Amino acid sequence: MLPRRLAAPAATWERDVDVVVLGSGAAGLSAALAVRPVRSVLVVTKDILSAGSTQWAQGGLAGVLDPTDSIEDHVRDTLEAGAGLCDEAVVRELVTEAPKAIRYLMRLGAAFDPEQGGTDVALTREGGHSHNRIVHSGGDRSGAEVQRTLDESAVGAGVEVMGHAFALDLVMGTAPDGERQVVGVRIGKTDEHGLLVSVGIVNARAVVIASGGYGQVFASTSNPPAVTGDGVAIALRAGLPVTDVEFVQFHPTVLWRGPDAWGQQALISEAVRGEGAILFDAAGERVMTGVHPLEDLAPRDVVAAAISRRMAEAPGGVDDHVYLDATHLGERFYTRFPSITEACREIGLDPAVDRIPVAPAAHYACGGIRAGLDGSTSLRGLYAVGEVSATGVHGANRLASNSLTESIVSGTWVGRDLAWEVPDRMPVAVDVDDPLDHPLLDTARLREVRAVMSRHVGVVRDAGSLAAAAGALGSIARSMCPPARIGDVVEPHGGVQPSVEPSRRTWEATNILTVATAMVAAALARTESRGCHRRSDHPEPRPEWRHHLDVRLDAAGAISVEDR
Ligand SMILES: Cc1cc2nc3c(=O)[nH]c(=O)nc-3n(C[C@H](O)[C@H](O)[C@H](O)COP(=O)(O)OP(=O)(O)OC[C@H]3O[C@@H](n4cnc5c(N)ncnc54)[C@H](O)[C@@H]3O)c2cc1C
Repeated sequence: MLPRRLAAPAATWERDVDVVVLGSGAAGLSAALAVRPVRSVLVVTKDILSAGSTQWAQGGLAGVLDPTDSIEDHVRDTLEAGAGLCDEAVVRELVTEAPKAIRYLMRLGAAFDPEQGGTDVALTREGGHSHNRIVHSGGDRSGAEVQRTLDESAVGAGVEVMGHAFALDLVMGTAPDGERQVVGVRIGKTDEHGLLVSVGIVNARAVVIASGGYGQVFASTSNPPAVTGDGVAIALRAGLPVTDVEFVQFHPTVLWRGPDAWGQQALISEAVRGEGAILFDAAGERVMTGVHPLEDLAPRDVVAAAISRRMAEAPGGVDDHVYLDATHLGERFYTRFPSITEACREIGLDPAVDRIPVAPAAHYACGGIRAGLDGSTSLRGLYAVGEVSATGVHGANRLASNSLTESIVSGTWVGRDLAWEVPDRMPVAVDVDDPLDHPLLDTARLREVRAVMSRHVGVVRDAGSLAAAAGALGSIARSMCPPARIGDVVEPHGGVQPSVEPSRRTWEATNILTVATAMVAAALARTESRGCHRRSDHPEPRPEWRHHLDVRLDAAGAISVEDR
């Protein structure tokens, strides 16, 4: 059984604000900036400002800026990538707002790369896009420029930030009209190593979750260490359904650094294929020939599945990587892709001369907390924006570079709405329980969880691999125990069970196990292949499956899946 609260000692401090934002990536800072002029806002973030995925984005932001491109084409490309599960009206809203979001960032000071020898912004292309419509910065440092711009704007606007502050759970209660309402968030303040310093409550009229995705649920991912699915786990523990969590986008090309590489891996952006790079297998055969009309620029799920298949079919056993050849770019590679050049040089490769070894790895969470593009959720006082949310934009698979744009649009919209109006302060009867009664996962078991997910729930799944994953995660969950209380005698054999201490690492480990369990349940239930969810035992999409799956955590800590 999974815990319904994250274990932590009693709160010793309180704060009151109008709006609290959980996370300081593109979505969280956009929200805080928009709400700041008229309301008190506090950004709570578990590390430094730039610890999320935003800082690492390479390709850029998608938006229709070229007169020969059109909103309709961007909508069509997004719907096609989403494989029948996008909400077309929401896609249209996002795509229409995208050029404004890009111009807004430029007004805030973001420097996007100009066309060669010109002053207009350069537009490039990524997999699944029918036009050049991606703006980028510093070659492949687009996310770092977005994060820098928003960090500086937030500081300039006087947004208050509480760093090294871990959002544990929502504070909830029942309003006089009988409706459930969020009235704040429980925070674990830590030192910079993640050790617990104190626990407090931030009371707020609106809580905006902007905590990013969950790439770190897998052993190998493009996501930085902070991206551990905390927001999705918080929502599950609050009794909210999360949706589409089986749709994890695996990036086809992360740098393969050897069989023992673990954790965050350097991304070899799709823009490299946009500039003409080609995938080859170990035998020197092209991987994408005959697979898709767009060949190496096919949508990500198609490329990742083709690479996985080619690796599995390798003569003499399974290969663990293929190669990306960008040598036609010569030394232009260094200036167009400076971070990738750096990552290649770290392992002794020169991308202007050598083929780059690559393999698929977990990259983007298409699913999450069900929310509108304006961040609204089904729970009064709760909002979700950015990668943690599932708004209907991405459906079963995200179109490249739509996510940063979505984070800016959603974040700004929720901020503007909350500047206009926040839920009333009502005399809510707040739920009371003792979080120390709930178990935490020992970090020693975390490696096992992530290895299970990469081995059994990767690019291609089947009923057998998913059942094995469910069994392994269940047995790991049974090993969890509550933290010791003062006065407990902790003995390894007999007496009180060995205990784990509340800290950033054990909270993250517990959240990762919770999200992994939800993801496996949804992946088992969806007996078809659609978008980035590929089942080798059900290789085709099935019309009766053209709907969403909601996953919930019940009061006893069990996961259930229902059709929506
Ligand atoms: C390598 C890489 C390349 C990418 N390239 C592109 C691209 O080119 N174009 C594109 O559109 N998208 C790209 N993406 C995806 C894109 O970067 C993300 O979808 C987007 O940045 C998400 O923004 P966000 O604000 O929702 O989350 P994040 O930027 O991940 O921020 C989440 C924030 O929440 C904080 N947080 C998490 N849990 C807690 C907690 N419990 N308590 C307090 N704080 C918490 C984190 O510390 C962080 O500050 C890429 C992603 C990666 C990893």
